[in-house]
Amino acid sequence: MTHNLAALLSSVVSRFYITLILFLSFQFTFLFWVDPEHFLAYIILSVLVFMILVFVMSLLIRTNFFLQAQHKLDSDHVMLTFDDGPHPINTHRTLDILKEKGVKAMFFLIGKNVEQYPDVVERIVQEGHLVGGHSYSHQFSFGFIMGRELNREILRTQKILSEITGQEEKYFRPPFGVTNAHIAYVVKAHALKTIGWSLRTYDTATDFTSKKINQIIQKTRRGSIVLLHERMDSTCDALPLLIDGIRNKGMEFGLLTPRNETAK
Ligand SMILES: [Zn+2]
Repeated sequence: MTHNLAALLSSVVSRFYITLILFLSFQFTFLFWVDPEHFLAYIILSVLVFMILVFVMSLLIRTNFFLQAQHKLDSDHVMLTFDDGPHPINTHRTLDILKEKGVKAMFFLIGKNVEQYPDVVERIVQEGHLVGGHSYSHQFSFGFIMGRELNREILRTQKILSEITGQEEKYFRPPFGVTNAHIAYVVKAHALKTIGWSLRTYDTATDFTSKKINQIIQKTRRGSIVLLHERMDSTCDALPLLIDGIRNKGMEFGLLTPRNETAK
């Protein structure tokens, strides 16, 4: 009963708003017991704690704090995802490998790169892979912009992608995996489907050594969504070994939903 109520509540309001409501209720209750002398210090401290909590949670997409994202497949398959493309050389390299290995994957593309290399996106789609938006410019300040600017940053890419693929592209992955109440608002208002990950390879931080390839293979589970960046040469180099290693564990690759099925 309690669980059902919690599920119902979180389907209507995000965990962020539930936390905010609880925080304000506690504030009103506890303020009666606070010594008037320490009133201001109490307010400053508690607001600071709340702001730190919100900041930390904005970096943890897997907590579904601000919005519900999908971090695992519903099936037993493993999905490889490639962020920050299209890249004029490495995306083709990646597509060649995926074709040779018979693997379908998902690409989260940056709008300004899509404008520069639309032919690469066309190839991605033609070869049966899924695409999603990954903001227009992937700016470092993505977590701090709001209103019209945020709207444009997210929706412009979804629109460019939809024009290329000829169907409404609803999949979205926020740059840096950052989420907040503003991003959640845009996602909800435009019925975007946010895709996170369950396995981060940190391939932009350190190169794929054979040790790292083995670690990733070991950590891969049924239903895993693996986060990769094909713009990194070492990721392209490691890809065939990664695919073979995961297959040797008896796992196969799959997508969220095949193309042409409407994304909800
Ligand atoms: Zn990215």
